[in-house]
Amino acid sequence: MSDVLAVVDHRRGSLRDVSYELVTAGRELAGGDELHVAVVSGDVDRFAEKLDLDGVDAIHTVDYGEEFNHDVYLQAVEQLYADLEPGVVLLPNSVNGLDYAPAVANSLSLPLVTDAIAFDTDDGLDVTREMYGSKVETTIEVDAEPVVVTVRGGEWPAAEANGGADVVPFDVDIDESAVRSTVTGFEEVGGGDVDITDADVLVSVGRGIGEEENLDLVFDLAEALDATVSSSRPIVDNGWLPKNRQVGQSGKVVTPDVYLAIGISGAVQHVAGMKGAETIVAINTDPNAPIFDIADYGVVDDLFDVVPALIEAFE
Ligand SMILES: Cc1cc2nc3c(=O)[nH]c(=O)nc-3n(C[C@H](O)[C@H](O)[C@H](O)COP(=O)(O)OP(=O)(O)OC[C@H]3O[C@@H](n4cnc5c(N)ncnc54)[C@H](O)[C@@H]3O)c2cc1C
Repeated sequence: MSDVLAVVDHRRGSLRDVSYELVTAGRELAGGDELHVAVVSGDVDRFAEKLDLDGVDAIHTVDYGEEFNHDVYLQAVEQLYADLEPGVVLLPNSVNGLDYAPAVANSLSLPLVTDAIAFDTDDGLDVTREMYGSKVETTIEVDAEPVVVTVRGGEWPAAEANGGADVVPFDVDIDESAVRSTVTGFEEVGGGDVDITDADVLVSVGRGIGEEENLDLVFDLAEALDATVSSSRPIVDNGWLPKNRQVGQSGKVVTPDVYLAIGISGAVQHVAGMKGAETIVAINTDPNAPIFDIADYGVVDDLFDVVPALIEAFE
């Protein structure tokens, strides 16, 4: 392929998980060419240390601002692009990435392919993405270079720490008159006590739980496992858990070490949010439930028998 510029995402002092995955995706795209990673922040030195990852050739630090800002990121990427002339500008398909990726493509007059879940670089660049609520996969033949591509979280493994990438401070010239918004504060929405995207072990509950009061069982199991509780959408739609616990296409994408799916059928919209988990364990009475197609371990049994037994075993 050709050189790749990957611009990472961070929030409130932490790199988002997708940033590490972006590096793996960027390395795959760059092939034998260079992978340039850029971070825009007022705390670039700390981020640069974390970005010294396997496959990174250079880390460009843009020492500007604190949190994500559309207009600052847009100008920074325009200037990085002019300097590095990459064949691909790679951005995360996160809230921030999606906020400015179209503006980057528009400003640089480049094509934009969003929400990539796989690449094929054998003959040019083919990007796989999903459509119709993850019911079909499409392959986009990218007949142009350079191009802007956003990648979905949870589709590539996170890049591991390595050591050896050059850190290159990038002197950016931000036109403040073009910065039309400022982040004034953060407010977590409903039940913002947990971030399921940060959990190593998720105990996830679905409609099979039957009644709201039965959720106690799931919280007891989570406590025994030192895990976090997440859910499928019907649990949130019923108002039994807040929206920030929902896994899936219209919820959050999670990549825990272990994902325990309890009474969840495995609809495509749910699987879209958790298929990147390292180990998937499913408990379901229906042996034909689609969740078993992706589970590493499956228990075909009643959750009201299995979960108490698990709690006892782990306690
Ligand atoms: C545009 C769109 C976006 C969507 N986004 C999301 C999303 O982000 N996240 C999401 O989860 N869904 C989403 N959905 C909904 C999705 O299509 C499914 O309806 C939903 O995931 C089903 O949730 P569930 O598996 O909990 O329920 P069900 O599909 O009803 O499955 C319940 C499962 O529990 C099992 N069960 C029942 N009793 C027991 C028992 N006693 N012990 C063990 N197992 C038992 C059953 O066999 C069944 O497999 C979306 C849908 C649309 C159209």
